[in-house]
Amino acid sequence: MTNTTKRAQDNRSAADPLIFNVTGLLAEPAGSFRDIFVSAPPLSFEDLVQTRDIEGDLRLTRTNRGLLVHGRLKTAIRQTCSRCLREIDWPVQIDLNEEALPSIDFTSGAPVDISDEPDALRLTDHHELDLEEEVRDGILLSEPIAPLCRKDCPGLCIVCGQELASGPHAHPDDDIDPRLESLRSLLGDDSRP
Ligand SMILES: [Zn+2]
Ligand SMILES: [Zn+2]
Repeated sequence: MTNTTKRAQDNRSAADPLIFNVTGLLAEPAGSFRDIFVSAPPLSFEDLVQTRDIEGDLRLTRTNRGLLVHGRLKTAIRQTCSRCLREIDWPVQIDLNEEALPSIDFTSGAPVDISDEPDALRLTDHHELDLEEEVRDGILLSEPIAPLCRKDCPGLCIVCGQELASGPHAHPDDDIDPRLESLRSLLGDDSRP
């Protein structure tokens, strides 16, 4: 079956590790729940690299209207320390606590009017919970403004640019910035102290 007007999202496989079929749970009374373990490979982003799988435990609870998705997922992204410029793995935690609403009525199969709550997380037409957008947003929101490799990262030496965290280092007298050197030669040798 091909339908070019379908969104890319609809073409994703049901075996996608961030898509969960919840038909069974929707058939149960409110209060019923399932605990699921999420384990998914990194997503691809335009300007971001995820360095670890997405993992965590979620509880899906049947509510009167849909499903409550509750739990915490963890992963990591590649960042650069804003002081020493070292590449670091930045841990990311995604806390989910959201109600997912159906897009078609479970008993009648009729489409639900989603205009009342256009921003709500929606189950797919096939009674699936698709968490990719939630995870993607959670990762993007957790990107730090000025990440540090450690709280007290001393940064770089302002003279030579060496990482100060790697220990003390000396600057010999002749270790002079070449721009200063050319200034000195312009002024002549007697400008030396
Ligand atoms: Zn650092
Ligand atoms: Zn230095």
